[in-house]
Amino acid sequence: METTNDIFGLRGKTALVTGASQGIGAACAEILAQAGAKVMLTDILEEQGRQTADAIRSTGAEAEFRAQDVTDEAQWEATVAATIERFGGLDVLVNNAGIEIVHFITDMPLETWRKVQRVNVEGVFLGTKNAMLAMRPGGPAGKGGSIVNISSLAGMTGTPLFSAYCASKGAVRTFSKAAAAEGGALGIRVNSVHPGFIRTKMGRAAISHIADLAFGGDSGQVEALFTTARCPLGRLGEPRDVAAPVLFLASDLSRYVTAMELIVDGGTFGAS
Ligand code: NAD
Repeated sequence: METTNDIFGLRGKTALVTGASQGIGAACAEILAQAGAKVMLTDILEEQGRQTADAIRSTGAEAEFRAQDVTDEAQWEATVAATIERFGGLDVLVNNAGIEIVHFITDMPLETWRKVQRVNVEGVFLGTKNAMLAMRPGGPAGKGGSIVNISSLAGMTGTPLFSAYCASKGAVRTFSKAAAAEGGALGIRVNSVHPGFIRTKMGRAAISHIADLAFGGDSGQVEALFTTARCPLGRLGEPRDVAAPVLFLASDLSRYVTAMELIVDGGTFGAS
């Protein structure tokens, strides 16, 4: 009989995680490797990425780092090919790389808006496209798979100062559903994950930007607003809090789940 471990585990499978040098991406790479996957970590931050992959390898897991800018299509083709060559397949893609730029709409240069869409939307499109080409029947990996796109709570609601980011993460949310609609017949599931405030470099920068622009530089006040006041679980999230639901969506435990959005925010959205 199939055990929970059999279906929760990723033994024999290969996962590719973008933006994996630090933060949520690093935590995803780590937990997928702990579940038995061979993991390709990619990022534009090379030294940190190599260190993260080394740390995962030091636990006995299989992991490798490869430099990749997710906005570049040729780099996507090369990265997917290199992953399949190195590890023998591609079963899971976590489109995690992302950026956040904080501006009032009236102050935002068009190029800033475009930069956010390039990384957060085009990067996810290119990743999904190249993974689907590889995972579909007859593709070089060919066994179907699971694609997990990291959106945000900001992809569900509007937040002042975050318009470019909100638009990009809203696009990731509905793009993922369209990709799931096309992917089902190919054996490919696509879901989105929507973290609330998570304690990473990006999360800390967002808090300090909001503090500077609206709270006279008082980060403590902003943090209190997003924890005690709005979050039923009363704390900011940690990268691992997001990585565990990603593992669920990557594994066969969620084999009948696709086109869904999973909010991981300590209850902030549901209870507001
Ligand atoms: P982070 O800034 O700590 O890490 C993001 C990583 O993406 C970095 O290592 C960065 O180098 C990489 N990256 C950026 N542009 C890239 C590009 N063009 N090509 C390849 N890699 C690139 O941020 P994080 O908090 O770990 O965020 C990870 C994901 O989670 C992002 O998509 C982010 O939007 C999303 N998210 C974060 C929070 C939060 O509060 N931290 C909340 C909701 C959603």
